[in-house]
Amino acid sequence: MKGLPEKLDVPGAVAAIARRLEDRGHETWAVGGAVRDALLGGSRGDWDLATAARPETVLELFRPSYPVGIQFGTVGVRGEDGNLYEVTTFRRDIETDGRHAVVEYADRLDEDLARRDFTINAIAYHPLHHEFHDPMAGWEDLQRRLLRCVGEPATRFAEDYLRVLRGLRFAGRYELEIEPATWDALVDAAPRLARLSGERVREEILKVLSGSVPSRGLDLYRRSGALAVLVPELASVDDTDWRVILASIDGLTERRLRLRLATLFAPAGPEIEPLMRRLRFSNAELRDVQVLGRALDLSLPKSGDIVAARRWLRHVGPDDARDALRLHFCREGALGTGAEGRSALAGQASTVLGVLRRGDPVTLAALAIDGSDLKQLGLKPGPEFGRILEACLDVVIEDPKLNERERLLEFARRRLPD
Ligand code: ATP
Ligand code: MG
Repeated sequence: MKGLPEKLDVPGAVAAIARRLEDRGHETWAVGGAVRDALLGGSRGDWDLATAARPETVLELFRPSYPVGIQFGTVGVRGEDGNLYEVTTFRRDIETDGRHAVVEYADRLDEDLARRDFTINAIAYHPLHHEFHDPMAGWEDLQRRLLRCVGEPATRFAEDYLRVLRGLRFAGRYELEIEPATWDALVDAAPRLARLSGERVREEILKVLSGSVPSRGLDLYRRSGALAVLVPELASVDDTDWRVILASIDGLTERRLRLRLATLFAPAGPEIEPLMRRLRFSNAELRDVQVLGRALDLSLPKSGDIVAARRWLRHVGPDDARDALRLHFCREGALGTGAEGRSALAGQASTVLGVLRRGDPVTLAALAIDGSDLKQLGLKPGPEFGRILEACLDVVIEDPKLNERERLLEFARRRLPD
């Protein structure tokens, strides 16, 4: 086991905030994610400070500062580098209902560390004295790559079920093994995750999906029973399909979050909507998943079949077409059909992309006539409008040269009801 490093690379602005508090006699430490990640060799901007000073004092000492989470004792302080740092008064848990912990202020760092979720998140570092305080032995767990609750796991999860999801996320992100007692309590707690608000679950799922290798966390969701409770709509996905979903998601780069989300939820089919509404996803997120999920089900046109490529684009929509192709490529990679499958798909995709680049009309908006033209022909607005325009699009898809105003007006005139 290695000893702790001599010192961590704390931003000057963070040290300056700590110095100001310490100068007034308020003990102040860096704790949480930034300390953990610095010990793992990573670096990040959002250092959090824990202090004995009360929030009123912090607000008074720093201008500008903002009561960002004042009910939890958190004040946002603008550092001299322009970043906002969170300074939180030492707290202890007094009462819990599994959804939110009720906390009160504490005077000692040890009390504050004891209420933190996992040992790796409970390591304190003094940014001025360069001293560690690690009573939960988080450093040892970090080196052993072990996720372990602070305190008695069942109690800690029952206090706040969100910790179950946080644990799965950290274990996935840092490739940690979950210590057996923590794992057992986590699996026991999984059935009660339904109590968490949709918003919090949504946030956690998005955090897992934003990681560099989301499959690890997602697979833990499934193995622990959390996925079955939170997203029962995916219950019919068998192990083989699940492997393909995970590999597809890993194959997408981190910034393609909406594609990863679509890959995860697409198998829910018609249940995508109730599932995403329950978990409070936005209308835009719901739309993306529905459109891309459908595009995954729709087989691609044969290579070289330009008319079929236009039809495919009409269903998927030109704006989502490139993303839909990305999903097909990732699934292809995940299925591992080899060079033959890959080159077939490449041919299909290049046919679609060719049509897209040429800008062939594939939407109603691209037609040379619109509803106002039909009105001038004497047609009253109603369902007939859409039907006639769709019929125009049918012929234009077959032959884009027909997309001329006069021709389409003539075509429409012939289709007017008597
Ligand atoms: P990241 O920001 O990378 O997701 P983090 O560890 O910084 O990870 P935050 O949610 O920013 O996570 O919380 C900061 C710290 O607050 C954690 O490291 C942990 O010590 C503590 N903490 C956060 N949420 C909880 C919770 N639900 N129960 C107990 N402690 C928590
Ligand atoms: Mg954080």
